[in-house]
Amino acid sequence: MSDILDFDRRHLWHPYTSMTNPLPVYEVVSASGVRLKLADGCELIDGMSSWWAAIHGYNHPVLNEALIQQTKAMSHVMFGGITHRPAVELGRALLSLTPAPLERIFLADSGSVSVEVAIKMALQFWQSKGKQDKKRLLTIRGGYHGDTFGAMAVCDPEGGMHHLFQGALPTHLFAPRPSCQFGTEWNPACIDDFHSLMAKHHDEIATVIMEPVVQGAGGMYFYHPQFLREVRALCDEHQILLILDEIATGFGRSGTLFGCDHAGVVPDIMCLGKALTGGYLTLAATLTTAKVAETISQAEPGLFMHGPTFMANPLACAVAKASIDLLLDSPWQQRVNAIETQLMKELSPCRNLSTVRDVRVLGAIGVVEMHEAVDMANLQEQFVKHGVWIRPFGKLVYIMPPYIISAEDISTLTNTVVDVLSLSRHQAKL
Ligand SMILES: *Cc1c(COP(=O)(O)O)cnc(C)c1O
Repeated sequence: MSDILDFDRRHLWHPYTSMTNPLPVYEVVSASGVRLKLADGCELIDGMSSWWAAIHGYNHPVLNEALIQQTKAMSHVMFGGITHRPAVELGRALLSLTPAPLERIFLADSGSVSVEVAIKMALQFWQSKGKQDKKRLLTIRGGYHGDTFGAMAVCDPEGGMHHLFQGALPTHLFAPRPSCQFGTEWNPACIDDFHSLMAKHHDEIATVIMEPVVQGAGGMYFYHPQFLREVRALCDEHQILLILDEIATGFGRSGTLFGCDHAGVVPDIMCLGKALTGGYLTLAATLTTAKVAETISQAEPGLFMHGPTFMANPLACAVAKASIDLLLDSPWQQRVNAIETQLMKELSPCRNLSTVRDVRVLGAIGVVEMHEAVDMANLQEQFVKHGVWIRPFGKLVYIMPPYIISAEDISTLTNTVVDVLSLSRHQAKL
């Protein structure tokens, strides 16, 4: 084992891992386009976009240049009492992209923090209106909103960490996961449970929070856009705010610029992150309406109570602005549609495997759901041997490549998934 891997194994924590029995990790020495280069010289085709983020691929000259130029001017300066062009230009770009009523922007430092900020906005909004009882959140099962405490409390109660932190987490309201899948016929009964919960608890609900149409880390599930329209209508009817967490769906991943565009729904508060900087730096944004922002600001204490040290980091803002320009100047929708068509066609043989429960594709997201949880270390090792980087979790093997990937590289990803899963089916029987 190399020095790097040895030190890593002893001292560095990875996402959701054990420090006594960590699964193997791979040392990446560089990344360019859609290829990750390992320390042993092998190259892997990236099927993950580093968790939804690297939409333009790695080592992009335009994004590199934006960072270099901004580094020469200033890498960071506090945002308290100071502003700067990178923040303003990013703000302008975000306003031009997102639905018009969203016009006040809080630049947070990670997705989870932007969710905390969104929840805090909703709570402060009702506090300002003198409705102290409106403190609870309503969401749907199967969601994922981040790992901090406020966010954790609205993640799926079974798939998430609720049992571990019972007592330390506020208890929110959970409607079932929408049974109407994307692409199937809408059944009005699909909203019934959600409707009942809202009718019963609307006096104590501050806000609904959910991922629009695509549920990501909570199960890679796509639900019917009509569900979101019904939720918006119910929120209006019962005077409840709507937070849409677009951290995974934002910037084109599901085939529309934002997930809410599938439904033509505008939230009161929107969270963005992940692909915001094209995968270069950590940055997130919470956008809200003038109404929410002004209501918060008009009542005691007259301030929105949040302000991270690295808020609106200029490097992150500059690269985010460059990434948005790059996206808009590219035929991103064509690319995502082409990826969708190809994933649908090439992942469909998985349907014939007895170990596979479902295959679903939306935009540049291809999901193979197994009946049983996969052996992650083993599958990952086989994928690496085949020259691809795909990291399954739980029962899910999924692909979400950078938008710039070639048709040939997609085929390598999908063929590998089909081959490896076919093989492991036989292994399971041995
Ligand atoms: C990843 C993710 C988050 C959390 O973002 P971090 O940057 O990891 O804190 C929140 N919501 C959704 C929908 C996500 O996919």
